[in-house]
Amino acid sequence: GRRKTHNSDDKSHGLETLPPGKVRWQDFDQDLYVGATVVRPGQDPYARNKFNQVESDKLRMDRAVPDTRHDHCRHKQWKSDLPASSVVITFHNEARSALLRTVVSVLKKSPPHLVKEIILVDDYSDNPEDGALLGKIEKVRVLRNDRREGLMRSRVRGADAATAPVLTFLDSHCECNDHWLEPLLERVAEVQTRTHTHTCTVVVMTTLIGFDWNLVFKWDYMTLDQRRARQGNPIAPIKTPMIAGGLFVMDKEYFEQLGKYDMMMDVWGGENLEISFRVWQCGGSLEIIPCSRVGHVFRKQHPYTFPGGSGTVFARNTRRAAEVWMDEYKNFYYAAVPSARNVPYGNIQSRLEMKKRLGCKPFKWYLENVYPELRVPDHQDIAFGALQQGGNCLDTLGHFADGVVGVYECHNAGGNQEWALTKDKSVKHMDLCLTVVDRTAGSLIKLQGCRENDSRQKWEQIESNSKLRHVGSNLCLDSRSARMGGLTLEICSLSLNQQWKFTLNLQS
Ligand code: UDP
Ligand code: MN
Repeated sequence: GRRKTHNSDDKSHGLETLPPGKVRWQDFDQDLYVGATVVRPGQDPYARNKFNQVESDKLRMDRAVPDTRHDHCRHKQWKSDLPASSVVITFHNEARSALLRTVVSVLKKSPPHLVKEIILVDDYSDNPEDGALLGKIEKVRVLRNDRREGLMRSRVRGADAATAPVLTFLDSHCECNDHWLEPLLERVAEVQTRTHTHTCTVVVMTTLIGFDWNLVFKWDYMTLDQRRARQGNPIAPIKTPMIAGGLFVMDKEYFEQLGKYDMMMDVWGGENLEISFRVWQCGGSLEIIPCSRVGHVFRKQHPYTFPGGSGTVFARNTRRAAEVWMDEYKNFYYAAVPSARNVPYGNIQSRLEMKKRLGCKPFKWYLENVYPELRVPDHQDIAFGALQQGGNCLDTLGHFADGVVGVYECHNAGGNQEWALTKDKSVKHMDLCLTVVDRTAGSLIKLQGCRENDSRQKWEQIESNSKLRHVGSNLCLDSRSARMGGLTLEICSLSLNQQWKFTLNLQS
């Protein structure tokens, strides 16, 4: 290319000799490699990868990407005397252009002495050449599974083969940004020397990562306090309760001591939950390093098959994580996802023994110290969480005592949409209760301070927990007038306006 670059890229143009049969990434024939699997006219460009392969194939393997880092990162001098890393990338039927771009961006955007090797684990892709051909590129080693193993066992296979002291895991559709690797390696080394404990640094840029009782990962927001505390140092590491998935750096020995991955998890899902609980509960920490930026192609659907069915595999993996790490709190997961109870999760004996051997802390400790933002149901609660009606949720709309309530699109962030039905039959948001001011059909429901034994505040779930009925009047909570005044009390009927479902129903 004729681009002018000013960063570490050019150093790899040095005259060092390559092993026989290897080429520099600059000399790899991208057109030949990618050209063999292009989308034919008339084919759906989304069919194979669930992202637009035609667009991906058009991009050059070394295209320029904008430097999205905070200003402070640009002026920072990173240490160069750092432990080298093995980069482990597993893939199953990845688009060639995306896979190649991942490999090239690692080589192009990292100081050469910090990347010992790139280990590609081909998880039994249909075409063995997808991986094999990339083995020509400097530093790339290719391993191929002879059956589909899933990403957990594939990553462990890659990690076992790694020869550098630090492991870096990436997905097969990533693009590393300027100086992405140095801050991660620096932090891993620093925490280790300073505290003799370990950190697992995470390379995702967006806010925080959390989860709900359904154990599906979600993006979280920093609290006001957290944001305030960062004003003086906007690029400081951010502790996170959860990793999003595939992108992180960890000392290799630590990865091994800590039990790698659960080898009985299949395909995809749950492993991020499991490794996050494990790192925190067993004495380590998880941090997002804001100066390290790696692009990742997010998609709404999986492009690959799930032998056994995606719902079943996901529930099985998640159950394994919950059963090993969550103690009695796993019951909140089962309350949120009752169908998971019927999915067998296999034997967890060796994981439980490992947990004991490592002296890991209970889940209660994790909740109190690592993820206090996760709201935990009270022992007084019968049902808990958001009160959902389709995609809408019961919402205080920011009102206080004597205000009306309404519905608003569910945002899964608690706040004004957090409710509990308690054993004494009140529907509560903090210390405000849904109150029937007038016991006639059509009257508006109000928020009022909760009072013991006030019949105007007594509710019960009826018809398999699908409706909320006011005990004293036998009328139901209804959203028909939500947009013209607020929620009302109406004669119970089959109307969808009366269907309400809590995230968690704790009574079985
Ligand atoms: N993967 C794999 N084997 C599988 C499923 C996934 O090697 O059976 C790879 C996949 O190619 C990707 C990584 O694991 O590099 C993570 O999967 P994916 O990107 O689908 O997960 P997401 O980022 O959507 O959570
Ligand atoms: Mn991915």
